[in-house]
Amino acid sequence: MVLGIFSYGYFLNALIISSRIRFFDRRYGHVDVLVFHGYLAVVAMLFAVGHRLLKSAYYREMSTQIGFGVVGFYLFLAVVALSVLFMDNRLLRRLKPFVALRRFGVGVLRLDYSLLKLFHNATSVAALLVTVHVLMASSTREDPLRIALMGGWAGVAGLMYLHHKAVRPFLAWRKGWRVTAVIPLTEAIVELRMRRPGKPVGRRPGQFGYFRILSRDCGSEEHPFTISSAPENDELRITVKNLGDYSATLKHVCVGTKVMMDGPYGIFTPPVQPRPLLFIAGGIGITPFMSMVASWRHHTLERPCTLIWSVRTAEELVRRELFDTTAKERAMFSFVPVVTRSVQPGFPYRRIDKRLLESHSPPALRKQMLVYLCGPESMQAAAAKYLKELGVPSGNIHREAFLR
Ligand SMILES: Cc1cc2nc3c(=O)[nH]c(=O)nc-3n(C[C@H](O)[C@H](O)[C@H](O)COP(=O)(O)OP(=O)(O)OC[C@H]3O[C@@H](n4cnc5c(N)ncnc54)[C@H](O)[C@@H]3O)c2cc1C
Repeated sequence: MVLGIFSYGYFLNALIISSRIRFFDRRYGHVDVLVFHGYLAVVAMLFAVGHRLLKSAYYREMSTQIGFGVVGFYLFLAVVALSVLFMDNRLLRRLKPFVALRRFGVGVLRLDYSLLKLFHNATSVAALLVTVHVLMASSTREDPLRIALMGGWAGVAGLMYLHHKAVRPFLAWRKGWRVTAVIPLTEAIVELRMRRPGKPVGRRPGQFGYFRILSRDCGSEEHPFTISSAPENDELRITVKNLGDYSATLKHVCVGTKVMMDGPYGIFTPPVQPRPLLFIAGGIGITPFMSMVASWRHHTLERPCTLIWSVRTAEELVRRELFDTTAKERAMFSFVPVVTRSVQPGFPYRRIDKRLLESHSPPALRKQMLVYLCGPESMQAAAAKYLKELGVPSGNIHREAFLR
């Protein structure tokens, strides 16, 4: 019973935490909150497995109350297993059998992320079944305080879930945006611009939103994209690389299409204190820095800042004029493009390695310098390792992950 109570609590808390609560986002960052939500769900599942095994070992009879619990348990187990195996990019990603299974799931069973995300909603049904199971249990019913506590907890989780799934989308729909331009920047990268009447949306550079582009091609899927325009600009821009089915459709979006945006979220924004900055971007990981640098053009830049941007070919340096112009106009800002695939004049660097980082992080500044990293996981890990070796404190290194 104790294991069951722990499982119930962790499960409901996982549901509460996933409902995009601003307080948690501002404190810990949206992505870390979602990761924590995942850990809570896994712990809840472990407690549930213990509870189920012990209960079935000692009490073999079946009743409606137990039936609700058993169905809820298996539904929850299915969601947790599929999420850990196919949606998470952290827990098991280095294990070879897991990588093979994932390839099979995606390639043969066509388990794409949006399908899994849809199935993820089955947790709400599991939560309902488990709540009925808990409220029907004789140990709960014997004390009104227990009924109030267990029922109230589920009520809070249910209301937060409803707010997240129904109220918030409704508000985003009412305050919808309209696409004003669709600009292909390369074969694979497209920029979408959008506006809406009324007050501009308050946001910080580097934040992202969940976008639903209401066109026939895009369906009603919701995807996270960084807002690449400056907060001082009333227009919202997203700059998207074609990385799969959804992102590939964006270049076909028509001007005038309605867009729902939930956000902004995230804490990938340098603080206002004038500490030196080092930005390191890989590929499309440049988008948060586009909005930061575009924002500085409205203010004075009072601290040294270097942006290192690594891409495969020079063609991928989209909107580089923003960085070139800022570097020309602001003595404190320098821009270092790194092109990895070809040797070309104007691009002396071919890798973000220790030598490059050493030459762009003066020893006197390393202890106070804040580093912001956004790009492929392997690039982030290597850069963070070199920087720590050079004496940058790990607490000063901030990372943004684009993949879950
Ligand atoms: C905080 C954040 C900011 C981002 N900013 C940008 C940006 O500025 N520009 C850009 O090009 N990309 C950005 N991305 C990545 C972008 O969200 C994914 O590339 C896109 O959702 C992929 O969808 P797909 O169907 O095209 O590809 P798929 O092949 O279906 O997915 C590829 C991977 O993208 C992730 N993903 C897919 N669908 C979703 C979803 N609905 N919600 C969350 N993650 C999903 C999963 O990790 C999946 O494994 C950002 C991601 C995050 C988390």
